Amino acid sequence: MTFRVVTGSITDLDVEAVVNAANSTLLGGGGVDGAIHRAAGPGLLAECRTLGGCLPGQAKLTGGYDLKARYVIHTVGPVWRGGDRGEDTTLASCYHESLRVVRERRIRSVAFPAISTGVYGFPKPLAAQIAVMTLREKMWEDMEVLLCAFSAPDAAILQAALDKET
Ligand code: ADP
Repeated sequence: MTFRVVTGSITDLDVEAVVNAANSTLLGGGGVDGAIHRAAGPGLLAECRTLGGCLPGQAKLTGGYDLKARYVIHTVGPVWRGGDRGEDTTLASCYHESLRVVRERRIRSVAFPAISTGVYGFPKPLAAQIAVMTLREKMWEDMEVLLCAFSAPDAAILQAALDKET
């Protein structure tokens, strides 16, 4: 079992599945969502149009098209509204439900971005703690889980959460 932090764009990773921090329309957006759609090409949007959107805390699978990854797992994080609207539960559900898809498809390597920590405004240290705790509780032997940070400071936050929960 591998569980570690990597730094860079999730679109460059050579894993079987990448997770997308999508919005509920699943029709593309900015941030990591925009990067994944740009790198995957128009086939991804075409498939997303058939899915009928996705609720916060849930996850849906598509192909990876022009990505190295064979699959994209689209999940919709919570918008941070101060922390008393169940944001932590919804964020944990994103990781949990994504892993459920991973298990169903027998995917062996998966990379997660820091869901909700961009435009959706979730505090990064708390988001990192939730990611690590939820994934560690649910992952299984023989799988590789990467936490993909888009900057060195973000990588340090994720690494701190990983070290703390060990
Ligand atoms: P959300 O709407 O869920 O907050 P964002 O895409 O705005 O999603 O941000 C989520 C996280 O993804 C942020 O920490 C952001 O820095 C990071 N991010 C943005 N682009 C990429 C990328 N190409 N690869 C990995 N992470 C990225």
